Amino acid sequence: MLKLPASIRVLERGWLSSNNVVLTGPEDTVLVDSGYLTHATQTLALVEHALADRGGRTLDRLVNTHCHSDHMGGNAALQRRYGCHTSVPAGEAPLIERWDEDALLLSYADQRAERFRVDATLAAGDRLRMGGIDWVAIAAPGHDTHALMFHSPEERILISGDALWEDGFGVLFPQLFGREATFAETRRTLDSIAALDVRCVIPGHGAPFEEVDAALERAYSRLHAFEEDPARLARHAARVMLTFALLEKQRLPLASLTDYVAQTRVLRDINQRFFAMTPQHFAEWIVHELERVRAAKREDGDLVPLVTA
Ligand SMILES: [Zn+2]
Repeated sequence: MLKLPASIRVLERGWLSSNNVVLTGPEDTVLVDSGYLTHATQTLALVEHALADRGGRTLDRLVNTHCHSDHMGGNAALQRRYGCHTSVPAGEAPLIERWDEDALLLSYADQRAERFRVDATLAAGDRLRMGGIDWVAIAAPGHDTHALMFHSPEERILISGDALWEDGFGVLFPQLFGREATFAETRRTLDSIAALDVRCVIPGHGAPFEEVDAALERAYSRLHAFEEDPARLARHAARVMLTFALLEKQRLPLASLTDYVAQTRVLRDINQRFFAMTPQHFAEWIVHELERVRAAKREDGDLVPLVTA
């Protein structure tokens, strides 16, 4: 059984919401990442419960590994409840301040978040105290160009966000949209994890894990496969984006999918760039793919998810 310091509590969520990490130290309390907007009520309840276990403390600070909808969707609600001081990676701050729905992959990807206040920014090399433990912020470009991870050298724990999961990493979006450096950046991020002393990774999705070398090996081999065949990344991204939409909406009428893939810009752009299928063909292909990987099934004329939100 994996053992974390008593000051760290991981609220493991499904795939629509990122995990939330509650760190309660003698000086203050911190939450890393806040889940998806439609789960905000549940996030508030989970955080309140975790803090109640710690003597009913308030939430002093909120930190984001990166600003995708599933990591920052509870920020506004947490700020209203607790007035918590909020830090985001320095590269994300301008996007948040002008609420750039395209760069943040919000309306562009048919995803939602509520605008929130940024109080401070974090950059690679910054030192933070969270849960009575010292952490160093580490650059994690790849899935998100501006993302950060947090490493505790003394506890040998890494809060990795979407840069490393037990099986893979978050979709390499920047590559899909023409940032050619993405593969090299992802490799450097994996290299920097490999160079750290880590006994346990707390990922943005899925349970904390200790088999770090095996996870890195899987991540490198996945990256290699994407480098060899970027269309493979595009196919993966298309599956992930439609699965996310299904998790958010719970069902989508099959008859609406041609319009959905034609109008949802992220899917439209992926199709134009990599496949150039007709929207109808693209929709049929994604449905078939989601059935094949058992992410979704047809039910009464709808497509419904088979994974939990
Ligand atoms: Zn992400």
